[in-house]
Amino acid sequence: MSAKLPDEERTDAEMKVAWLRATTETRAVLRQASAAWAKHSCPGTAECCQLAVTKRPPWLWPSEWKVMEARLKRDGRGVPPARGDGACPFLDSEGKRCTVYEDRPLGCRTYFCHRVVGPAKLPGGETNAALDRLRALNVAVDDSAAPRSILEWVELGSSPPRGEGDR
Ligand code: SF4
Repeated sequence: MSAKLPDEERTDAEMKVAWLRATTETRAVLRQASAAWAKHSCPGTAECCQLAVTKRPPWLWPSEWKVMEARLKRDGRGVPPARGDGACPFLDSEGKRCTVYEDRPLGCRTYFCHRVVGPAKLPGGETNAALDRLRALNVAVDDSAAPRSILEWVELGSSPPRGEGDR
């Protein structure tokens, strides 16, 4: 059985491979979460993306941020700047559409507001399981990994902590 090396003893290349694996697993977790919420929807007003108003920005584990970074890279886009109106930087200029919808984090897939439409029973168990899985796969790479607000990730975008900028 191989023991996990302390993070500081792993090379940058090993860290990169470990984060790549975690990012791939994260995509699967996000897909499962969306499937669990498939019977629910909302009017799609994007009010929940007006973060200065809601004061409830989504919090992302590093691997969730990496999923978004990889999306930006595929699209040939950089990390968007903070917006003057305090909305999520990933909201389109008209304030109606998420520009990374397919790769949005778990917190943006769970219909946490009163506008949710669908079965009365919400998939709380599946959502908690997804949260637990995200925590486990991030901490498995980096003991000190922790979630950050999407606004903080955007701010850090150009100078991520060691290993967190690899895609
Ligand atoms: S990532 Fe997309 S869905 Fe989530 S808050 Fe930002 S714009 Fe809205």
